[in-house]
Amino acid sequence: MTRRYERAVVTGGAGFVGAHLCELLLEEDIEVVAVDNLATSSADSLDHLRRHERFRFVRHDVTQPMPPSCEADVVFHLASAASPRDYLALPIETLRAGSHGTENALELARRTGARFVLASTSEVYGDPLEHPQRETYWGNVNPIGPRSVYDEAKRYGEALTSAYRREFGVDTAIARIFNTYGPGMRAHDGRMIPAFLDQALKNEPITVTGSGEQTRSICYVEDTVRGLLALARSGHPGPVNIGNPHELTVRQVAERIKDITGSGSPIVAVDAVVDDPQRRCPDITLARDVLGWEPKVDADDGLRRTAAWFRRAPSR
Ligand code: NAD
Repeated sequence: MTRRYERAVVTGGAGFVGAHLCELLLEEDIEVVAVDNLATSSADSLDHLRRHERFRFVRHDVTQPMPPSCEADVVFHLASAASPRDYLALPIETLRAGSHGTENALELARRTGARFVLASTSEVYGDPLEHPQRETYWGNVNPIGPRSVYDEAKRYGEALTSAYRREFGVDTAIARIFNTYGPGMRAHDGRMIPAFLDQALKNEPITVTGSGEQTRSICYVEDTVRGLLALARSGHPGPVNIGNPHELTVRQVAERIKDITGSGSPIVAVDAVVDDPQRRCPDITLARDVLGWEPKVDADDGLRRTAAWFRRAPSR
């Protein structure tokens, strides 16, 4: 059964994934209220959406109860620092967004009878001991390391979402999003692809952490937001992995970006990051089976589109 929606609330709607999701929802004729405190983003990301009569932006911190004007029949909860640079700089805020913020977004869904979709993360698998990662894997997370503020906030968010489903019958879903990239990322948010693109386009050394043999599976943002909407439209509670199963080493990503941009940058090794996962690859059998979803944009195409956007981006 495919669910139909009139009005969506997207927390974190001014962020990278959130702004793409708002755009997709508007294209699908769903009214959108984007809620964001602009902690790690700028309202500029919404410039192209503000002209849309079915779009509204509410500046609000989700760690406070949601404003009464935020009525919806589907709530996508994305508000959280997401890049390592941001969550390491905002550790307590990140824990609060994952805990109080998730509870406030769940309360909104409970009050309005809306479907609720949590943007969780592959980071709940930590440094996984199982490959590829299926949703049944419970993860290998360091609960006290610097990255725990993000990983454990998301794990708590999943636990709270599951409890709201069991205790209050809220119609919830959990998406475990894997590494997503595309136009709209900030060059200096500390994530691999914008960092490599920025370095390549400036002909500066492309800095690969550790051995460079650690793997990532990179998913183009249009695919990711299609997956989130497919999950919302299904009745499935998740968790469901949303990611691209094509695994690349970090060094391979650097080499592709160097080729695509025609850069003369050398690729150099720098210190490994604490608790950096060595392998990351989703098993997306469940998403294929229950959502009929799989990624469509391959890495070369997605990196080309992202590089083209970075070339044009004024604030790079
Ligand atoms: P982002 O930093 O670009 O966007 C996050 C947004 O949340 C920002 O606009 C920020 O201002 C907002 N925010 C943070 N705290 C808030 C608060 N207390 N109140 C209101 N707004 C707040 O990050 P993103 O890449 O767009 O990630 C969006 C979501 O998807 C996050 O929940 C993230 O954990 C999840 N996710 C992203 C990826 C990825 O690769 N991009 C992977 C896995 C999961």
